[in-house]
Amino acid sequence: MPLCPSCETRFETWDQVASHMVSMAEKSNPSHVMWLNRNISLQELTPSELGKRLETFFSGSLKAWIITKFIEKFYGETPHPFMMAMQKPTKELLLGYVIEHQHFLVNWVKVLSKIIYDTNEIEIIRYELENITTEFVGTESSPAHYELLLRMGESLGMRRERILSTPPLKGTTEAIKTWREISNRHWTEVMAAMHSLELVADKNIRRYGAKIHYFNERILESDEFPTAVRDFLREGYEADQYHAEMALDLVEKYAQDQERVKITVLRSFDAFSKYLHSRLERAWLLEAQGVIA
Ligand SMILES: [Zn+2]
Repeated sequence: MPLCPSCETRFETWDQVASHMVSMAEKSNPSHVMWLNRNISLQELTPSELGKRLETFFSGSLKAWIITKFIEKFYGETPHPFMMAMQKPTKELLLGYVIEHQHFLVNWVKVLSKIIYDTNEIEIIRYELENITTEFVGTESSPAHYELLLRMGESLGMRRERILSTPPLKGTTEAIKTWREISNRHWTEVMAAMHSLELVADKNIRRYGAKIHYFNERILESDEFPTAVRDFLREGYEADQYHAEMALDLVEKYAQDQERVKITVLRSFDAFSKYLHSRLERAWLLEAQGVIA
């Protein structure tokens, strides 16, 4: 049964959802207006036109739908400005990435541990524990992503203590708050919200229609950047391949309410976009400051 993607009230038909959303928009309700602007149109639509648009927007099987929406939002006609900047990254951009991302990664493993707490499915517990190990703990032969990230920052000239003691920017804090709210929803929604974000560095995104890759892949072969930069980028590039897809297969297998999962995923995408902007903002701040140590 369809539900309002903003306030999650349930209705019998998409036309009823549309009438409700139009009436909320007429009252200038911020969250309904924002949802429509971000996802459907900046123009006002009649309830019957909106009903059709909403039904089309939410149709499709879960995993394919999530991948398509991710590509549209981050890699479509106008890719996200952070990915555009990563085609020719500066030292400040990579350091902006490091400083904001350490906060993201700490929150990442905390939210994954909430999935473990909430599920009784052993394959899910195992999947998330493996992810936590890769991201945060590491093994004898392969350091954790978190450690590789900090090494990237050091190789670009910033002391580890300074990286670790820099608080997140407002956009990062707000995005983390959204993911912590999401973590209280059904664990299938939390899984979808978190692991769909791993599509960002997936090698397959071009096959799904992305115009560009997460970063200019030539960086991996060039010696323009220190080895630690290439090590970090390569790790994500290789480790995340199929990783996001595996999680989305599990979500599709266990999700009881696919529409709620879709709504939650869109919230996560909005938070992610805001967070990626913070990496850019941090780079601008570092450029303005001039000295790095
Ligand atoms: Zn509503």
